[in-house]
Formats: sequence, structure tokens, C-alpha cells
Amino acid sequence: MSRPQPVNRATISAQLRALGVRRGGVLEVHTSFRALRPIAGGPEALIDALLDALGPEGTLVMPTMTDGQGLFDPQTTPTLDMGITAERFWRRAGVTRSTHPGGSFAAFGPRAAAICAPQPLEPVHGPDSPPGRVVALDGQVLLLGVGHDADTVVHVAEVMADVPYSTAHPTVALVDGLARTVPISEPDHCCAGFAKLDGPLRARGAQREGPVGHGHARLADARAIVDEARALLDVDPLVFLCPPSADCADCAAARASTRRFS
Ligand SMILES: [Zn+2]
Repeated sequence: MSRPQPVNRATISAQLRALGVRRGGVLEVHTSFRALRPIAGGPEALIDALLDALGPEGTLVMPTMTDGQGLFDPQTTPTLDMGITAERFWRRAGVTRSTHPGGSFAAFGPRAAAICAPQPLEPVHGPDSPPGRVVALDGQVLLLGVGHDADTVVHVAEVMADVPYSTAHPTVALVDGLARTVPISEPDHCCAGFAKLDGPLRARGAQREGPVGHGHARLADARAIVDEARALLDVDPLVFLCPPSADCADCAAARASTRRFS
């Protein structure tokens, strides 16, 4: 069997427009490049296609989180598990990267400075954070070859809903000018339960799906994601955690935790 033909930048840009990426809008993207390839020109061509679809008035946003084990420098610290596309994106000339020591994001476009402005250390992904600002700016969330388990906007909804769980991550941060390891809390868990958003988002026609490259993409308004997540959390504040029978260590730790952000 022959290998699939590489998809080029122009085709990907057309796929993104067909999916419903808004020209001139704010777009937060989570990507598994492996799920999309082969792409002629690799991750750089994918980034160019995203910028083509957004146009010069649009703003592209990607997560660039780090392990928090060393002092974070937005100019040099590599991402952790964010994928090759985000890693290439933040290193581009003119891209702004936010300064949170564990939960940074990168952005390019007219809204980049606003999205990457300084934020409180915690909650990491609250309303006053890059994904929270994507919600406030009525942006879209694009999931390329990944599901909502990779969708940081759902954490914004968890913070807004004041979920009864959180996990502290030891993170090196500057406190009064000195590097210290401090616990930074967020409502964290394995996040597999975020896949429960597919059903309600599809049911209300709020999620467009289709091919991008050789992969499957989901596109939804950030506000719709927050609305549907909060509706599920209103019914059951633990809805996104794996059931105890699933034997998930991350979700068991979240169930045993108590801290809230309010
Ligand atoms: Zn779990």
C-alpha cells in the first residue's frame, strides 16, 4: 500500500475555512501533528496554514506549558508534551509567550499581547489566564487530531464553576525576585472525562468536525464549550472525573482533594 499523499499548506487552509475558522478571529489550537501528517512542509506549513485561514486581523494561540522544574524563561524554556507544532510556533519571530512558570501560552496577531498579559499564579487556567481571555474575546477552540481531553478552555469552566477538587504542582517561580519552589494549584485530573462534551456540543450544533490534513478536527466557540461544561458541572460537580471503578490515579487524587478557587 502506498503512503498517503502529503497535504499542502493551501489545502489545509481551505480545510480550516471550510470547517468554520473565523477570519480575523481569535483561535486557540491544540494539535497532535502525528495524527495529521504527512503535511508538505511539516509543522511550519501547518502553522502557516492556520495563519492564512485567520488572516492578518486574526490571532493564533497555542499552549506552551512546561514542567515547572526550572526557572521559566519564555525565551528559552521548551514546552512539555504540547507537541511539535506548539514548540515550533512559540519559537517563531514575533510570537508572544506568556510568563506563567508552568502554564504559559504563545500567541501571534493583534490580540497576542492582551492574551499573554501577566496573570495570577493560580488558578493556572482561570478566567484571568490566556484561555480565559480567549473565552472573553469570543474566540474559537480548534482541536487538531485530539479531543476535548486536550482542551484547556474546559479548565476555565471548572474554575468558574468552583469545582470541589484541585491538585498542587510544585513549580519554580519568582517570589519577591527570588526563585522558589511553590505549590501551584489547579483543578487537574486525567481530563479524559472532557470527552463528555462532544455529545452536548454536537447536539446543539455548536461543534463543527471535519478533516484537517489527514486527521480529524473539532471546532467550537470557546463560550459554547464553557456553557456546556458548566451545564454538566451544575448537574454533577465531579462529572469530568473518572469513576472510582476506573482505577485512575489522577482522578482518585482529585476526588480526595478539596481546594476550591472562589
Ligand atoms: Zn481519570
